[in-house]
Amino acid sequence: MTRTRGRLAVHWQIIIGLVAGILVGAATNLWWTDETWAGIGVVELGPYLDGQRRAAVLPEGVDSAQALNPEDGSLQGKTVYTLTAEQIARYGLVQRDVNPDAGLVAGTARFVRSLTGFVGDLFLRGLRFIAVPIVLFSLVVGASSLNDIAKLGRIGIKTIVIYLSTTAVAITVGLLLANTVGPGRGFSESDRDTLLASNQAAAADQLQIAAGKPDFWTVLLDIVPSNPFNALAETEMLQVVFAALLIGIALTLVPREKARPVIAFCEGMTEVIIKIVHIVMLMAPYAVFALIVTVVADLGLDVLASLARYSLVVLAGLLIMIFGVYPTLLRLLTDVAYTRFFRAISPAQLLAFSSSSSGATLPVTMECCVERLGVKEEVSSFVLPLGATINMDGTALYQGVAAVFIAQMYGIELSVAQQLTIVLTATLASIGTAAVPSAGIVMIIIVLQSVGLPPEGIAVILGVDRILDMCRTTCNVTGDCMVASVVAAGENALLGEEEVARRLAAQESIGLDEFTKEQEELEQARG
Ligand code: ASP
Repeated sequence: MTRTRGRLAVHWQIIIGLVAGILVGAATNLWWTDETWAGIGVVELGPYLDGQRRAAVLPEGVDSAQALNPEDGSLQGKTVYTLTAEQIARYGLVQRDVNPDAGLVAGTARFVRSLTGFVGDLFLRGLRFIAVPIVLFSLVVGASSLNDIAKLGRIGIKTIVIYLSTTAVAITVGLLLANTVGPGRGFSESDRDTLLASNQAAAADQLQIAAGKPDFWTVLLDIVPSNPFNALAETEMLQVVFAALLIGIALTLVPREKARPVIAFCEGMTEVIIKIVHIVMLMAPYAVFALIVTVVADLGLDVLASLARYSLVVLAGLLIMIFGVYPTLLRLLTDVAYTRFFRAISPAQLLAFSSSSSGATLPVTMECCVERLGVKEEVSSFVLPLGATINMDGTALYQGVAAVFIAQMYGIELSVAQQLTIVLTATLASIGTAAVPSAGIVMIIIVLQSVGLPPEGIAVILGVDRILDMCRTTCNVTGDCMVASVVAAGENALLGEEEVARRLAAQESIGLDEFTKEQEELEQARG
């Protein structure tokens, strides 16, 4: 993921994709409305986008499919567009055409929309494809190369302590800001009730998910996979980390000649997977455009206005972490200049912002830290997957601000003891938050319940969740990279700037042209 001759550096390509996505998305949001669809013959948008051409006509006085026969379980959740031919016949319904006037222009608009979704999803799939093998193979190599269980233990403890402390700092920053600015004080009651009502169903879904969360001991026990293959298949990242560590340690304990081929295989596979990261990243600028354009185009701008103060407080907190707390720690604990750090990890940050998933970003985070920042694999392969799973400073900060905001909105004053409880529960909740989009909103329910705040309050902030998710995920990934640098510096596993530049120059090969050229050369050599 380096600059290639005559090509723009990858982070610039991604930035261009990002900015173009924001501009096109905002323009679509402003100018492509329901009337525009109606103008090109699409009156019933949902079914049109789902490709439905015909729908049943309900008899006079019957409003929903379920009302045809409340006893009939097969009608559950069905709309008139999704009734089967058999159901239509059973209830003697006639059918009508849906959007009969939709023509070529509407079809093209729908195609562009589907294509955009496809490109974004394809890219995320590519990254998810890589996440498990890269962690497994590189961590086996990393752990086996340490050759020293005490060192492994020391790195582990150091990593977890720094992760927990930075998370607690993040929540404290969030609480201080929210208490000082008071984004929920004087929040209009009518705005509150409108938002509560409009997001009630979505909030109920999140409440249900939160109710199913396992207890502390189960979470701890779950780190140990009862079947490692299942852990790989289900992308249970902590379990994969655990299994890889165990295999790596065991490799140092078996005779050298037995261990050597296994380690060589894992080393080879790590190289292969990193090459796949490079190939997938060729899509990044276009995929980032596709991901962003969809989010911005669907964004309700009016929601942003009423929650502007709350959103700005979350943003301010995240900026303090990214541009204040992390640089300070880097300065104190490493000799990495922040500009060097930022330049190295910017592709991972941009991707985190576009995908809202530190899990999907993980392969790129690892690649940036190893190749562009110079963190040795023995540290990065352990610290980063662990960080993607348990270290979420941005999420924790956001949970703190959201809790205070909801309390203020309901006119409830939180005591110091309650705020300390928030620090504790939000730290734990952020550990338990999955590294996928919108996971933080589920865990916030646990934080609210811990201090007796009404969990349905999340309905108010749901509208801006996606955009804040993009920002907090960027902070999460930045925090992981910072801790990787700090731990590596302490273990003498951080290369100097010149060494990194030398290596990068030596393995400069990512453009598609170069990739194809490499393949051709290989073919010729094989001859
Ligand atoms: N999307 C975040 C992440 O992947 C988690 C969250 O929802 O806060 O890091």
